[in-house]
Amino acid sequence: MPQFDGKVALVTGAGSGIGRAMALRLAGEGAGVMCADVDEQGAQATAARVAERGARAGALALDVSSEAAFAAGLEHTVSELGGLDVLMNNAGVGAGFTWEQTIGVNLNGVYYGLKHACPMLAASGGGAVVNTASIAGLGALVRPGSYTGGPGKLEGVNAYVAAKHGVVGLTRQFAVAFGTQGVRVNAVCPGYIVTPMTEPVRNAEGGSEFLESLHPIGRLGQPEEVAAVAAFLAGPQASFVTGAALPVDGGYSAR
Ligand code: NAP
Repeated sequence: MPQFDGKVALVTGAGSGIGRAMALRLAGEGAGVMCADVDEQGAQATAARVAERGARAGALALDVSSEAAFAAGLEHTVSELGGLDVLMNNAGVGAGFTWEQTIGVNLNGVYYGLKHACPMLAASGGGAVVNTASIAGLGALVRPGSYTGGPGKLEGVNAYVAAKHGVVGLTRQFAVAFGTQGVRVNAVCPGYIVTPMTEPVRNAEGGSEFLESLHPIGRLGQPEEVAAVAAFLAGPQASFVTGAALPVDGGYSAR
């Protein structure tokens, strides 16, 4: 039996990249998926692909930096799809934003998901949250000025690193707080992945080669490779795994 048969997942940032791959992966393993994104059209496009796989699907316009909207999105998922078993707390922005914008989405947005989903999951008998952190949640980024266009973007890089370290901390804190209530909380820490977020850097002269050189495997990752690990962490095979921040990074963090 597929491991998510009869289960329901909410995926944030589902309109693109890693979130879209997560939604399709969970659907392929039997879950009904609410596809949420600030980009409503992107969410709808992913939901259409989820439905093509024969899974129950919904699309939702959601800005995760609004606590009220996130709480309402969780309730909407329950009322539309009949429950909530998994939250993929994945939405995020890259390094090109201000401190406030980056913290608002990448840290506050993850916190709101944990704050409202964990008690819901506990009350309904348990579940799992997977936060999308980053290698930037495990250490500093390498020479950011050399591939982000110079010091002008450094505020965004600093905020990105701070937010992702915060996501790893929240992963551990909520795992401890909800450990006896049947709610597991883990994080994936991707290296550089081929998604629209990394497109500007990949398209810059020498950008791809530079990024590839940071990964001992010698290439960038694909969104499906992150989604596979996230699905494992959310599923029954990871029943004794909680509070983990798992690199999915081609060896980046092993150096
Ligand atoms: P992506 O392709 O840009 O997808 C991110 C999605 O999130 C987009 O559809 C984006 O919409 C949406 N989004 C942005 N702000 C939002 C908000 N406030 N509320 C809801 N949705 C929002 O990027 P990705 O690479 O898949 O990134 C997904 C996650 O992985 C992020 O948390 C990112 O930090 C993390 N990550 C990525 C990499 C990488 O190399 N790609 C590495 C490590 C970690 P718009 O396009 O309209 O902004």
